[in-house]
Amino acid sequence: MQNDNIEPLFLSSSKESKEAYRAIIESTVTAILDSMQDEKAYRGMNPRQLQQEISSQTLLPEQGLGFPSVLDSVSKSIIPNFLKTSSTDYMAHLHSPALLESIASELILSTFNQSMDSWDQSPIATEVEIAVIKQLCIMYGIKEHSDGVFTSGGSQSNLSGITLARDWYCNTKLHHDVKKEGLPSCYSKFRIYTSEVSHFSMEKSAHLLGLGYNAVVKVKVDAQCKMDCKALEKHIEQDKEQGFLPIAVIATIGTTDYGSIDPIGEISAICKKEGLWLHGDAAYGSGVILSGKYAHRIASIDCCDSLTVDFHKMFLLPISCGAFLVKEGKNLEAFTLHADYLNREEDEEDGYTNLVGKSLQTTRRFDALKVWMAFQVRGKAGYAAIIDTCIENATYVYERLCLNNAFEVAIQPEISSVVFRLKGSCEVNKRVRRRLIHFQGVVIGQTVYQEKTYLKFTLLNPTVTHEKLDSLLSLIEELGIEESKQA
Ligand SMILES: *Cc1c(COP(=O)(O)O)cnc(C)c1O
Repeated sequence: MQNDNIEPLFLSSSKESKEAYRAIIESTVTAILDSMQDEKAYRGMNPRQLQQEISSQTLLPEQGLGFPSVLDSVSKSIIPNFLKTSSTDYMAHLHSPALLESIASELILSTFNQSMDSWDQSPIATEVEIAVIKQLCIMYGIKEHSDGVFTSGGSQSNLSGITLARDWYCNTKLHHDVKKEGLPSCYSKFRIYTSEVSHFSMEKSAHLLGLGYNAVVKVKVDAQCKMDCKALEKHIEQDKEQGFLPIAVIATIGTTDYGSIDPIGEISAICKKEGLWLHGDAAYGSGVILSGKYAHRIASIDCCDSLTVDFHKMFLLPISCGAFLVKEGKNLEAFTLHADYLNREEDEEDGYTNLVGKSLQTTRRFDALKVWMAFQVRGKAGYAAIIDTCIENATYVYERLCLNNAFEVAIQPEISSVVFRLKGSCEVNKRVRRRLIHFQGVVIGQTVYQEKTYLKFTLLNPTVTHEKLDSLLSLIEELGIEESKQA
């Protein structure tokens, strides 16, 4: 390192490095704050302009440009084009704004860069993650032999759940060690049941696990977009008659589009009767547990053998932050493999926990710190107020829509999403959404319900007011009238 102009590399105990750290963080904070000019969700360029902007820049110059110059360029070309997730005009996806304290958590966890795979890479972080997982298991009612691990989010948690279900089935029902031997010869007969509006990570997982999309049986839903349990029983019965091997049911606790909650208790009874694993995908609905008034809507969540929890949705923590919980912790051994350099067998005897043995990942972020800090900052009451407000906002929108003849609504919301459309053509609904994003700075969702295009409000931001919601609905109605005239 002979270059005198070299950027400081790391934070250490030296005065110079501390000053450099402070300068970098403070100038970054200033750049971020300066970009907050209005409350719109999107003020950036269109896709072609963005591509041009980016392609005009050199990614790897011969000589480094230095931090101030790079921050300046990022402030001009990248930051202004960000979607503002904290805007009350953003309600497109299950994609939340980040609570302020969780941004501080991110700074701490990136600065110290702990890795959760082994204790010697994350001493206190390992103990914090274990404590958070323990609290989560209590919160979701799966107490005794339960365990879990932080994940990158719902997709990884669902893959973990289906992997455990497959291994459990092979080990206990077929006495086949799938970890060593690979899939048994009857693998193409395996069947997993989930509703037709469940998340696509079920099929993806089935593919990755060597079972294929065909192993995922899509059970029809009722008018409230909840799994039809009669249909589930019928599928299982027919499949067994035809020689297929049912292994698991995945209940969705808050579907991505509708927030509908499958009847967990009834599904659990079917699983018990048939000897099936029950995985609960609560990527969305997991937040409802902290509601003051509506937690009963996810009652029976404690029946699940494994559970997907996402913190980067209703809990308002920055991406990525998720957890995978299991009722019988020993099933997590599916992910255990001893590496001489990492999780030495004598470690456990000496009281050192190496979390790598519970995870699909090796190097892993200390995301548990975000939960640790946000739970302490907000408390039960703080989170209850946030979640109740979001649920009540959805109820409010639903009621307004029911009273307005210009609109139709898909289903009555159970959590915080409302799926609705302007009566009339699908084209008009699509054009209204495009106009909102490019001319009004408003970003809302769009999906398909009963083969028609619908619009969607995903209400994760508790600062959205009823007045705001009323004015958005009026705007959509107006734009709809204009678009219908042009059509
Ligand atoms: C968001 C979501 C997922 C996927 O979670 P990621 O964190 O995006 O990987 C899975 N299931 C449901 C029901 C979801 O809403």
